[in-house]
Formats: sequence, C-alpha cells, structure tokens
Amino acid sequence: MPRQRIVIHRARADQARAKPTDYSTIGFGRWFTDHFFATEFDRENGWHLTRIEPWRLLQIDAAAICLHYGQEVFEGLKAYRGKDGGIYLFRWRKNAARLRSSAKRLMMECVDEEFFGQAVKSLVLLERDWVPADPECSLYIRPTLIATDPFLGVRPGDEYAFYIIVGPVGAYYPEGFNPISIWVSDEDVRAVRGGLGEAKTAANYAHSLCAQQKARQLGYTQVLWLDAIEHRWVEEVGTMNIFFRLRDEVITPPLAGTILPGVTRDSVIAICKRWGLTVTERMISIDEVMETIASGEMQEVFGTGTAAVISPVGALSYKGEEVAIGGRRTGELGARLYGYIARLQRGEEPDELGWVERIDELDAEQVARGEE
Ligand SMILES: *Cc1c(COP(=O)(O)O)cnc(C)c1O
Repeated sequence: MPRQRIVIHRARADQARAKPTDYSTIGFGRWFTDHFFATEFDRENGWHLTRIEPWRLLQIDAAAICLHYGQEVFEGLKAYRGKDGGIYLFRWRKNAARLRSSAKRLMMECVDEEFFGQAVKSLVLLERDWVPADPECSLYIRPTLIATDPFLGVRPGDEYAFYIIVGPVGAYYPEGFNPISIWVSDEDVRAVRGGLGEAKTAANYAHSLCAQQKARQLGYTQVLWLDAIEHRWVEEVGTMNIFFRLRDEVITPPLAGTILPGVTRDSVIAICKRWGLTVTERMISIDEVMETIASGEMQEVFGTGTAAVISPVGALSYKGEEVAIGGRRTGELGARLYGYIARLQRGEEPDELGWVERIDELDAEQVARGEE
C-alpha cells in the first residue's frame, strides 16, 4: 500500500479543548487532544476517507460488528518530549507490526506499517503543543481498529475503521515509581493456548475485570495471572509483562501464545543482555517464586509496559499468604532500567539500537501528504 494522503481539517478556535494546568495530577487516560485521526476500509475502496479532524463523537451503526462480536484490536505507544525540546517516538514499528498480528488473529483488515507510522506522526505533530515537557509525562497514543459493518451474525467484518486518539498522561499507577502489591489469581485465568492472549484486544481486558475487582477489594493494585491448565506457571500481570531477578539471573516467561508480546519486555531483554546480565526466557512456577522470595534469593520483581515502563513489585499475595520482596523497596535493576529507558525515549542516551526517532523537525502537513 503506498503512502496515503491524509486530509487535515483543523479545529476552529472554539473547538479547542482545555489543556491541563497542573501536569502532576493528570493521571492516565483522562485527557484528550483537539483532533483525532481516522481512516475507513471497505472491499470496494480499500482504505479511504483518511483524515485528521476535530475531536467529536464517533458515528457508528448500532448494529456494528465490533459492538456485538468484539472485533476490536488496539495499540498503546507514546510520544516523548526531551530536555532539548525534541519530540521522540520509541520503536513504533513494533506497535505497527503487533497491531497487524492482533488484527490477523481476529480476522480483521489492517493498515500496513508505513501507513500506521504516517498516521501517528502527522497526528502527533499536529498536536505537538500537547506533548508535555514534564519528564514524568508523555503523550499517550491509542491506535484502534474496529469492524463497523452493520450486521448481526458471526462472521468477520467487511468494513473497518482505524482511528487514533492521543492525550497527555502522567503516572499509570497512583503509586508512581513506588513498588506495587500484586494478587496472584489462582482461579480465574487470562488466556489459554490457542486463545486470544497474544492479541491486544478488548476481550482480554473485559474478561480480566472480575479478578481485578477481587484484587482491589483485598487491597492489591493488579492481578498476576497463572497458566490456564495447571494454574502453576506465571504468565503476566494485568497490563504488563513480568520479570524476576533471581540469584543474579533475569527471568521472564517465554512467549508461547498466551502472553502479550510487550515492546518494553523485548527492550528490557535486549538491554539486560547488552549490560552483560544473564537473561533467561523460561517457565517459572508460582511455587518457585514464593519459595525464593521467602528464602531471600529473589532479589527483585518488576513489571514492564509502555504505560509505566518499569513497575517494581513490592509484595505478592498467593492463596492468602503475602510475601514482601526486597523490603518493599524499588530494586536496583528496575531503577536502573527505568532511568535508562526513560532517558533513551527522550533522546537523552546514545541510540545504539536505532530505537528512537525524532520527529519534531517534520511538518504535519508534509507528513500528511506523504512527503516525509
Ligand atoms: C500492552 C500490554 C503489555 C505491555 O506491552 P508494551 O508493548 O510493553 O506496552 C503487557 N501485557 C498486556 C496484557 C498488555 O495489554
């Protein structure tokens, strides 16, 4: 698919939305900008009606397939503001590729990688004033793909909409970079082999709400999921992949179909290897985790994801027993990774792996015309 032409309809002054006045309290997922990107697909025209327009309610048929049968996939990435004022994207091609594999799993049409990048860049550039300068904050980017044909009956859609919304965000967890407490679900499971676990799709999250509520009621922030068959092997956390630092080895469960292949997970593995650490992708049982925490051999546990980058885990609760990890303090490796990745994402570290793209020198209109 060649580059598309994105038509930009700018918001009038009276359509501008209020910007946050205090970035320290913006939280996550509450603020959105003045415009959104959208493009539509049907069998006759392919992707068409490609535009950026002022924020408005979406118009969607009440019978749209996505609303009834869950054909929806999404992505999450960020644009970062560096100390130099530059605007940076981090490994966006990984998100474009993952959107495509999620879409394929759900039998959906999808935009190609170049078109994805063009759309993300032109929207972020148009909203450049919304990219926060505060180093704790960033502009969250939510690409979304839905089946829109009005039809009741179970079959893949023939019509799709791909849209992108963006908004400034602060810390994902109210705890900030302080360790979170996690509850291990030994009944509800997140994903089964052959299921949807690998896809970033709404169903996985709708399905997790029940266990999430149990965790909350017991005073925990997130759920740690175990495998669906033996309820024994650690998989991942609600919205994060999980890492263990055990006897100086960095361990994370392998991607075997039930775990979301996180971009941050991939980055952490590559960085730890470059730092000379032993990284092992292997199955790890909850018994091994609990025993090595109790014996003091478990040095650190942390989650990884775009929203929080690194989220130290200070305590785990399993079958009514709570164990504290590393004195409930942020671990050394987690802190080092957080600092390094956060600086890398803002153009403040040498980009040896070619993961970072500075985009603020580009012009929104030019990118929209496909002339980047
Ligand atoms: C998005 C997500 C992650 C993290 O992926 P990143 O690409 O690192 O943001 C991990 N697990 C689940 C279930 C997710 O939805």
